[in-house]
Amino acid sequence: MDESTRTDRGAPAHDADPAAAPAAGSPTTEGAPAWHAMAADDVLARLGTDVDAGLTDDEAAARLRDVGPNRLPERRERGPLRRFLAQLDNPLILVLLAAGVVTFLLRDYVDSAVIVGVVLINAVIGFVQEGKAEGALAAVRAMLATTATVERGGQRRTLDAGDLVPGDVVLLESGDRVPADLRLVAVRDLRVEESALTGESVAVDKTTAPVAAEAGLGDRTSSAFSGTLVVAGRGRGVVVGTGPRTEVGRIGTLVGEAPALDTPLTRRLGQLATQITGLVLVVAVAAFALAWLGRGLEPGEAFLVVVGMAVAAIPEGLPAVVTIILAIGTRVMAANNAIIRRLPAVEALGSVSVICTDKTGTLTRNEMTAVRVLLPDGEVLVTGTGYGPEGDFTDHDGVPVGPATLAALRDVVVTAAVCNDARVDRDGDEWRVVGDPTEAALITLALKAGEAPAALARELPRTDVVPFESEHRFMATLHHDDDGAAWVLCKGAPEAVLALCRHDDGAWPERVHEAAAQGERVLAVARARVPTDRRSISLEDLPDLEVIGMVGIMDPPREEAAEAVAECRRAGVRVVMVTGDHGVTAAAIGRSLGLDARDALTGARVEAMDDEELRQASVDHDVVARASPEHKIRLVGALQSHGAYVAMTGDGVNDAPALKAADVGVAMGGRGTDAARDASDVVLTDDNFTTIARAVHQGRIVYDNIKKSLLFILPTSGGQAALILVALVLGIAVPVSVSQVLWINMVTAVTLALALAWEPGERDVMDQPPRPASERLLTAPLLARVVVVSLLLAAAALGAYEWELGRGSSVELARTTAVNALAFAEILYLFHARRFTGTAFAREAVSGNRMVWVVVGVMAALQLAFTYAPPLQAVFDTVPLGATSWLVLGGLGVLVFLAVEVEKAFWRWRGVHRM
Ligand code: ADP
Ligand code: MG
Repeated sequence: MDESTRTDRGAPAHDADPAAAPAAGSPTTEGAPAWHAMAADDVLARLGTDVDAGLTDDEAAARLRDVGPNRLPERRERGPLRRFLAQLDNPLILVLLAAGVVTFLLRDYVDSAVIVGVVLINAVIGFVQEGKAEGALAAVRAMLATTATVERGGQRRTLDAGDLVPGDVVLLESGDRVPADLRLVAVRDLRVEESALTGESVAVDKTTAPVAAEAGLGDRTSSAFSGTLVVAGRGRGVVVGTGPRTEVGRIGTLVGEAPALDTPLTRRLGQLATQITGLVLVVAVAAFALAWLGRGLEPGEAFLVVVGMAVAAIPEGLPAVVTIILAIGTRVMAANNAIIRRLPAVEALGSVSVICTDKTGTLTRNEMTAVRVLLPDGEVLVTGTGYGPEGDFTDHDGVPVGPATLAALRDVVVTAAVCNDARVDRDGDEWRVVGDPTEAALITLALKAGEAPAALARELPRTDVVPFESEHRFMATLHHDDDGAAWVLCKGAPEAVLALCRHDDGAWPERVHEAAAQGERVLAVARARVPTDRRSISLEDLPDLEVIGMVGIMDPPREEAAEAVAECRRAGVRVVMVTGDHGVTAAAIGRSLGLDARDALTGARVEAMDDEELRQASVDHDVVARASPEHKIRLVGALQSHGAYVAMTGDGVNDAPALKAADVGVAMGGRGTDAARDASDVVLTDDNFTTIARAVHQGRIVYDNIKKSLLFILPTSGGQAALILVALVLGIAVPVSVSQVLWINMVTAVTLALALAWEPGERDVMDQPPRPASERLLTAPLLARVVVVSLLLAAAALGAYEWELGRGSSVELARTTAVNALAFAEILYLFHARRFTGTAFAREAVSGNRMVWVVVGVMAALQLAFTYAPPLQAVFDTVPLGATSWLVLGGLGVLVFLAVEVEKAFWRWRGVHRM
């Protein structure tokens, strides 16, 4: 139990007190003992558990059946009815319903029924889509389950936090989220941030000594509460409360955020819809005046025409389509190992202009191999790759080293293997790492030298430890051997370790530099003999150490990383490597990945700079080495001050502020801490840089698809509004009825636009600079396209209508032809909307998205039903069309299609490739 410094050691507990055990499962607060006021050993005894071995598997399983899983009750979902009614809570829908009531009062029952029916259909579509979107997000969130490290049946295991039961012995370390309410039995500099529970953001020092029974939550220093965050140190605690019987469970704070379906973008789109509605209402009043006073229509008739126009002009389907585009984007990203924790990150990723990324494990494989050992006089090369123990020790000419060198080597290798928490296990033909890969490389090194780490650990039992932290960059352990001698062993970054040596050898830094220039991560290995009565060590009182050697470790770059870096650069996204490693090592790796690594900015240099200097330096340094979390925060600020939109990766507990400060915080799912995950917007399940690049790509596609849905839906609304207005101004009968307008707007447009959510993206999305985050939604080319296509659609419908009337057809027939002309033109326009300015006469315009063909098929069927099915004929006043009508409306649709092709050619000629 190396993390322990027990302060209230009482009589060791052996047997469980059978009478007391059920108390743990007692569901009432009042019945639960004041664990924080009891001695740690009493707690262990009452819960029938062993501080080192934990519960047995059988006992844990029995308790789990008794008390249930360690989960908080699910947030009460909005009931289906509430969710359905929420769909109606929309100014636009209210306008429609009002129109329904008025038409009813005017005894136009059919239109009234159509309005209400369409509102209901629209609400159902919104309801289903929202359910789908929430489902997709919930599935993605479930991938972020928390785990806990526990002792069970004498073994250390990682479990799903939901499986914890009272009596489990849980291990905590910095960065962990406390998985249940714990009574601490051992701590080591443990500090816990409890703001989730107490609102107090200053971390609390934890101890194991009992506190007063009536102490408030903030003063229960002997307890760690579920949902709080360990910010420093380590600890061991016994679970005393799980699920609803934890303090968070009691106060009813529910962890797990509600799926936030509204994002800045959906809000901006909502505003846009409201603005359009406002504008439409103003125009509607004017149109009503014109129809009634100017054209002399009956007020009732005039009202109907105007309602038709208003309904036509309002893009009802837009919010639903955008939500589904975001949700689908989230799902695609999750399938590609990037889990979105906050929905706005989907769009934000598309605007990223700088990615600040870790090196180790993100750009490199995190498969460490010790390849070189530097001795005070001499150097040994190590052969073999991977974690397998096959390899030799040779000189530069490949000749095996002699016995004298081997003896010196042995000291270094043994020290590095004992001051170590990792394990390398054989698993069939493979060697599996448990723990930190850097440390595992040193275990393999020992195996190559013929040393068995387990035996070494028995010979030199560990008494105390100063764990590795990125802040101080070394690890030290205290050992007592059989002869009663005591040793402090240490390994870490050379500068950090040399700083602990009072008389260092001036030659080391130069030799470190040489190895680092090959891209090796160099660890110094040091030791000191200390008085036997020494029982503990801490950061502040380490003895004077002697460096006995250094180990150079290779961590090859990920093969695909160089390609991903190059892709980012083509896409105008800068990649900055930010690492805790040595500047020379980082520069060597950076160069091999294609970064500009002429000279690495180091943490020390950053420290010496003021904000203005850092602002300058941040522009021309792609590699930042020996960086600490504070440097990361300052770097984000410096880059943002240039207008950059910054994504920053992180894994440690202290990375949280930098992740929050960045525009997109990216946490590592594999090696990252809970603290980093909580602060992030995106979690990478594979810790791979390539995944970030791919998520940026996907984010751009999502943003483009939202634009494309605007390009599709807005002209549909605009075209019909224009049609009705033109008819009013010209004083002719309106070519489409109110119910027909509703059909086009809420059935045709929404169905077709949905296909755009599945657009795979244009081929050149990553050949263009990022869109500025401040770019307007309605850019000039986009507005121009909307106006042009609106007018074209209106002209096609009007043309069809006038042509039918001209050849003596009835108004019903003329209207049926006009609506079908609109629908057909829209179907063809969908193929244009798939690409901003690319021609629709290309393979990409018809392939790559099966949903397009699905919706086109559905639309064709719906249009035929609209025209030929008697029930729909009765509702919509439609009549069957003859071949000539089809031919003419088809021709009109093709003309619209060709006209848009010309418009696109214009933009291409102007060099515009996106809107
Ligand atoms: P990175 O950004 O590459 O993940 P780290 O913060 O993990 O950097 O490591 C910084 C430095 O600390 C390394 O260059 C190495 O010298 C040292 N170091 C890393 N891991 C350990 C360890 N387990 N024990 C001792 N020293 C370590
Ligand atoms: Mg690291």
